[in-house]
Amino acid sequence: MVTPAGVGASTVHIRGTTIERVGEWDDVPAGVELVDAGDHLVMPGIVDTHVHLNEPGRTEWEGFATATAAAAIGGVTTLVDMPLNSIPPTTTREGFAAKRAAARGQCAVDVGFWGGVVPGNAGELAGMTEDGVRGFKCFLVDSGVEEFGWVGERELAPAMQILAGLGVPLLVHAEVAGPIDAATAQLSGADPRRYATYLASRPPEAEAEAIRLVTGLCRTTRARTHIVHHSAASALPLLREARAQGLPLTAETCPHYLHFTAERIPDGATPFKCAPPIREAANRELLWQALAEGVLDMVASDHSPCSPALKAIEVGDFVSAWGGVSGLQLALPVVWTEASARGHAITDIVRWMCVAPARLAGLTGTKGAIAAGHDADLIVFDDTAETSVAPESIRHRHKVTPYAGEALRGAVLATYLRGTCVAEAGRTVASDLGVLL
Ligand SMILES: [Zn+2]
Repeated sequence: MVTPAGVGASTVHIRGTTIERVGEWDDVPAGVELVDAGDHLVMPGIVDTHVHLNEPGRTEWEGFATATAAAAIGGVTTLVDMPLNSIPPTTTREGFAAKRAAARGQCAVDVGFWGGVVPGNAGELAGMTEDGVRGFKCFLVDSGVEEFGWVGERELAPAMQILAGLGVPLLVHAEVAGPIDAATAQLSGADPRRYATYLASRPPEAEAEAIRLVTGLCRTTRARTHIVHHSAASALPLLREARAQGLPLTAETCPHYLHFTAERIPDGATPFKCAPPIREAANRELLWQALAEGVLDMVASDHSPCSPALKAIEVGDFVSAWGGVSGLQLALPVVWTEASARGHAITDIVRWMCVAPARLAGLTGTKGAIAAGHDADLIVFDDTAETSVAPESIRHRHKVTPYAGEALRGAVLATYLRGTCVAEAGRTVASDLGVLL
């Protein structure tokens, strides 16, 4: 069992929906119902703070029922929904009410919500926080959907002042347009089917410039600031420096940046398209170092699917394809495959995928750890078994994923949500026990 004390043989005692205590391995009172996980690992359920549910409005891309079922099968017991790609977006109190109404009754795991900071909605932030959003996300560059606008320093500075007062974090898509526009101008006439063309269009400098802007505002406003899906290794020194100065800044990276490399992405393979892009092998190793060092705090899936037609798979055009990687169900085995190959322990996975994301979402004390008083969200994980990614095993709404055909290390055998088994051996056994956080 993986507890805050480390890995060892233990019992976990559950009363109702809560962990009552962690005991010695042979501490089994008479008359209690016993589940024996044998030699497999028992660890906290994964907390994934970066998931695009897209419902209501774009439910044909992904929805609460399909995504939370995939989450349960993949060992994710808590996820936090991003405010964009649904219609309406979660940028007003009304939009947030529509979200909750759409989610109710169809979640297999627990679901929280991020709101959005967009031009002109500063007046909504306090009310949305009161209604229960766990923080806010913004873009510094075109988000890809017209109903979720992007902000510059002029809008961001007052918004961060408000969020600092409310005590909730701001999550930032850290790319700015300048370097992207300049790179794109240079690429006119380049083959849109080549991955190299797409990669060159989203240079690391776009991330670096965004982080400079955001750390500057973090310094003056003291708003809790979180960089989502960090990809550019060359921008890591900026994060390191900000942390060294004691700024309230955290950062995440994603399974796809830790697993894939640009050199091996075939031309025309648009399921790999995401922004910022998957970069070269050397970049990937520096992201691993930053995780080990704590400059990157956590790993979140950034599960962002769309309908297959929008991926432009047949033409293989990276420019016109929707950007977003689909991989919620596979995040744990993907990260474990790469982490274990680099000598990391399962306790590192728990730190990056349970403890740190629970803290970001304000869920410390109830989620992310096997400890007394926490929700009994547990998974049984066979850390040496193989997960083979066959289309029929994927429960996302659509089967398109860049992980197709892979053999990953580790398999989720069972998932318990607040004490009840919700998934077992790749199948859900309960589909509506999730609550809205
Ligand atoms: Zn995202």
